[in-house]
Amino acid sequence: MARLHDSPEDPTLGGAPPGHSHILESIFASMGEGVLVANEHQRLMLMNPMAEQILGRVATDVPVAQWPEHFGLYLPDQVTLHPAESLPMARALRGEAVVRAELFLRNAERPAGAWLLVNSRPVRDEAGRLRGGVSIFTDVTEHKRVDAAMRTGWEKYRSLYNNTPVMMHSIDQHGRLISVSDRWLNRLGYAREEVLGHDSVEFLTPESRRYAREVVLPTYFKTGSCWDVPYQLVKKDGQRMDVLLSAIAEKDASGTVVRSLAVLIDVTERKRAEEALLESERRLRAILDNAPTVFFLLDTRERFIFVNREWERLFHRTRQEVAGRTSFDVFPREIAEALHRTNEGVLRTGASVELEERVLHDDGIHVHLTQKFPLIDANGAAYALCGIATDITARKRMELSQRFLSEAGRELVTSLDYETTLQRVAELAVPVLADLCVVFVRADGDRFLRPVAVADSSPARAVDVREFLRLHPPVSEGLHGPARVLSTGRSEASGHSRGLLDPAALEEERWAVVRTLEGRPSLGVPLQTRGRTLGVLFLVSPRPGQAYATEELALTEELGRRAAASIDNAQLYCSAQESIRARDEFLSIASHELKTPLTSMKLRVQQLESVLTADRPLPTEKVSRMLEVFGSQLQRLSELVEHLLDVTRINEQRLDLHLESMDLVAVARGVASHLAEQLEKTGCEFALVAPEPVWGRWDRLRMEQVMFNLLTNAMKYGAGRAIRMEVGLHEGKARLLVEDHGMGIPREAQDRIFERFERAASRNYGGLGLGLFITRQIVQAHGGSISVESTPGLGSRFVVELSPGPAENC
Ligand code: ADP
Repeated sequence: MARLHDSPEDPTLGGAPPGHSHILESIFASMGEGVLVANEHQRLMLMNPMAEQILGRVATDVPVAQWPEHFGLYLPDQVTLHPAESLPMARALRGEAVVRAELFLRNAERPAGAWLLVNSRPVRDEAGRLRGGVSIFTDVTEHKRVDAAMRTGWEKYRSLYNNTPVMMHSIDQHGRLISVSDRWLNRLGYAREEVLGHDSVEFLTPESRRYAREVVLPTYFKTGSCWDVPYQLVKKDGQRMDVLLSAIAEKDASGTVVRSLAVLIDVTERKRAEEALLESERRLRAILDNAPTVFFLLDTRERFIFVNREWERLFHRTRQEVAGRTSFDVFPREIAEALHRTNEGVLRTGASVELEERVLHDDGIHVHLTQKFPLIDANGAAYALCGIATDITARKRMELSQRFLSEAGRELVTSLDYETTLQRVAELAVPVLADLCVVFVRADGDRFLRPVAVADSSPARAVDVREFLRLHPPVSEGLHGPARVLSTGRSEASGHSRGLLDPAALEEERWAVVRTLEGRPSLGVPLQTRGRTLGVLFLVSPRPGQAYATEELALTEELGRRAAASIDNAQLYCSAQESIRARDEFLSIASHELKTPLTSMKLRVQQLESVLTADRPLPTEKVSRMLEVFGSQLQRLSELVEHLLDVTRINEQRLDLHLESMDLVAVARGVASHLAEQLEKTGCEFALVAPEPVWGRWDRLRMEQVMFNLLTNAMKYGAGRAIRMEVGLHEGKARLLVEDHGMGIPREAQDRIFERFERAASRNYGGLGLGLFITRQIVQAHGGSISVESTPGLGSRFVVELSPGPAENC
């Protein structure tokens, strides 16, 4: 401790009692600040050790005016020497108190320089006279450095806080915003004063606010952090902004959260893009899910990435179940291996393929037409395999069916024989559609169905089945199987072949082979054409327990239709042939019939000519007899022509009726008298039985024609025996009956003699086979009916029944 000047007369600065002086000195010596004392003469009087240490100089008697050079004191700019007069001590010596003046010190001992913070005060005696000054200073260099560093750090922090392109905010322990970054403000459109002090959740949407209060904030205050919290903020203009918020808490020494630093990343665009992507993915998925085709995506290790709904439906696995699995986890090994071979090829070569694959479905193996192609990344490498498969099983089956049917079509036209055709149909159905195929027909009036064709995959069994069915045919009234199909005209598929084999008869030992067919699924389809059911095609399946499928039914029905059409064609062909035969026969008969009267007439004319040219005239009776014969032949000719014309009229539906009220008995009498001579000639005894008049409205000439036709036939075929004609009323109807006892008509011909050109008698009996046809047409045109009862050799009886009035459609 340097004491430079003693001043005994100065009580303040040096005149203190020696005890006091010691105390003061030791205080100064122990002070942490530098202390300089100068007297009113500008002389340094005291300098404590700390002052020496700070200033790097020991005490010297240097006047205050030289202190700047002596100690190396500069202005804060660190280069301008401090003016002596403004030194804090100088100012104190002028009576001024200086507080916290800052000086820069640099001298040889402190070459790096130091900052001094100086307080100076004047020292006065009791009288108030200025006696000196005291400066107390500290070295604040370190403090200033820290301060500067801090200031720089804070500036940097502030600048970062504000300029960083992310939004930041801080909240206090109550959740109130205590700072927000510029970015935060301008993204949300608020001014700082509008947000500071507000609860941070005020700027969230109601859902995010609830989430913040219930979940995020409690966790944050507990753990001191939160990461990537998805929030939705509300901008000042009301728009929403999606952000991810991460925050860390600043805690005090006791661990209490004092503030947070939260970073918010705007993910609105990203979310929108994600949603758009999701939406497009959803749309794509919807398309793929609703497509009737199978779609799947595999990664490069052939693991499923995606399968569509059709795939799920077919293979009974969900996309979640198969995700990450391979075909080997999903399909039987053999199928998986085949799939793997093509998948591997596509992924290795990068080339697309289209192939038919066999895939197991619930109902067995299906055929898929599959396209497989790789998905290529930007580097040209395959990163996935895409497969699109269409089930072409039905198409394949259809192709097979078409082939089968066209083959059937070819076969069916090879014969015009009814039974041969049916046998071919049965053979076609085996083995493609059945193990056994039987074709049944029902002959009119039969109690049983007649098996006309049998085909079996085993020829030996076919023999047994044919024999069994011959002995035990199904009954027509049967409720199952072929009988039912024939009666309903509808196809029927059944789980077992009921109605085909009589179970009781099957018991017999000899039918052991036939019994093997028992209980098999069956299918019966009608053979129908132009509204008629000709028969039944009955199939027995080769697969016990597996009923006929819908496609097989359709295929068999088609086969049935084609077979029926072919039979129909054969029948039409036969009837056309028959018509041609009948026409030819008619022409030969007609020419003969026409020729007979013509020849006779020609003969008479020649005779007359010769008579006229002869000298000797012929007796009158002879001439008149010749003319009589001529007249009757002419009559015959005109009848024949009239018949032919009637047939034409009937064909053209021009059989006009001129109805009038008449007594049928009177008409009968007229016809009988007209034919009296002829009756007499044939020697037939004739009786007309007509007890009472029979009135009605009919066409007179046509009624005469009916009676004439029936009577002339009775004369022609009556073998000269008695003929009876009866006209009367019977059950409210007019009834005409013509009965003879001649040759009669065979049973088989009794229906057809009413058809055109149909005859039952030999050619010795002339005639065109038109009389009865025309008669029936006339009767039917009047709304009546005609029938015949006849016993060959005993005679015939024709009965005509007519309503008294005209038929409504006449
Ligand atoms: P047509 O007498 O000119 O042959 P029809 O149509 O009058 O033609 O008769 C058809 C056939 O019916 C005859 O050919 C004959 O075989 C048979 N028929 C018709 N009437 C009788 C009858 N009364 N007795 C026996 N057969 C008859």
